[in-house]
Amino acid sequence: MRVVRTIDALQEAKKNLSGSIGFVPTMGALHKGHLSLIQQAKKENECVIVSIFVNPTQFLEGEDLESYPRKEEADIKICELAGVDVLFMPNVDQIYEKDELSMGAPAIRGYILEGEKRPGHFDGMLQVVMKLLNLSGAQKAYFGKKDAQQLALVTQMAKTYFMEVQIVPCDIIRDENGLALSSRNVYLNDEEKYRALSLSKSLKRATKYIMSGELDTEVIKSEMLEVLKEADMVEYVAIVDREFNNLKKIEIGNTILLVAARVGKPRLIDNLWI
Ligand code: AMP
Repeated sequence: MRVVRTIDALQEAKKNLSGSIGFVPTMGALHKGHLSLIQQAKKENECVIVSIFVNPTQFLEGEDLESYPRKEEADIKICELAGVDVLFMPNVDQIYEKDELSMGAPAIRGYILEGEKRPGHFDGMLQVVMKLLNLSGAQKAYFGKKDAQQLALVTQMAKTYFMEVQIVPCDIIRDENGLALSSRNVYLNDEEKYRALSLSKSLKRATKYIMSGELDTEVIKSEMLEVLKEADMVEYVAIVDREFNNLKKIEIGNTILLVAARVGKPRLIDNLWI
């Protein structure tokens, strides 16, 4: 595996790759969720490039940019063991110039739910993902359904800009209790970890209701909120179609249930695709 930190070194390393490239962009502090993306990329491509870049432009003022978990040594080992060909770990100066062009998330889909709670987050996310996709030269890029709105916006960006890369959605990986894995879970103590399960439990409760024939989204949301009383603060519970339009009735095969809540220090998100 080649670990490269500059764009020149990345371009050099790419010359030694042959065949299709699968790309997995991350912010590091890798866990089994990231690993599953890497494994899927390995299966579907001859070569895999992973990037680790904690992108400052997608953090809002007062968020955890400085304290975001960084585990460079462990991350390098994980990528090596997973059979990654090139690990790209640039610093901010490699990626950004002064007086940049800006990328704008769409006015509606980019500013609801996560975008409403974190205004501007998706502009920064799209800006860096566009750069990284172009740098990687990948035919396929892998994104987790865990960040459902991010996945939808990246897919839209690829379509809007006629990019040739295929965006591949990957399933959410959870721990043995159902907690969706996240680099930010390290902020949780044991008691908070237990209460953090209320997110996945609320989705399970919703599933139970839907399986028993309840399709009214208001009823399902209020059931979810009951379970979410264990969280410190619920930021939103939403039931949308795959285009992120609010739904009155569950549409099997076209619905995403989303939840965001604070438990202890971090804000956590989870969702379920039905
Ligand atoms: P991050 O490092 O948090 O920016 O995540 C990098 C990629 O990994 C994104 O596409 C995430 O959606 C994905 N990811 C993060 N956590 C999980 C998880 N628990 N299951 C599946 N994918 C995940």
